[in-house]
Amino acid sequence: MQKSISGYEGYQRANFLYQAAVNIFLTNPKLAQFYIHEMRQICEKLVIRMSPQMKRNYCKKCSYLLCYHEKIVKEIRKKKYACVECPGCSYEKRIKVIEEYE
Ligand SMILES: [Zn+2]
Repeated sequence: MQKSISGYEGYQRANFLYQAAVNIFLTNPKLAQFYIHEMRQICEKLVIRMSPQMKRNYCKKCSYLLCYHEKIVKEIRKKKYACVECPGCSYEKRIKVIEEYE
């Protein structure tokens, strides 16, 4: 039987996997994708909230790491979005731009 892990340990594991994914991405993108997938599973299982900076840096469809890809600001229905297209599955991720914070 597998030992259950606490929330703190879950944070450590998720953080380690994220940093490993960012560091290995340029040499092995597939492995980075796997690490992000594992991190998401840990966060889902232990009900851990990810920081928004981490959440914005991967594709929610295929877990591809997007932090090295350029974001383009587009205007859709009079609202500004920072858009980035995933090279893995061509899903367009949109992040709303709040102009008060610029
Ligand atoms: Zn994708």
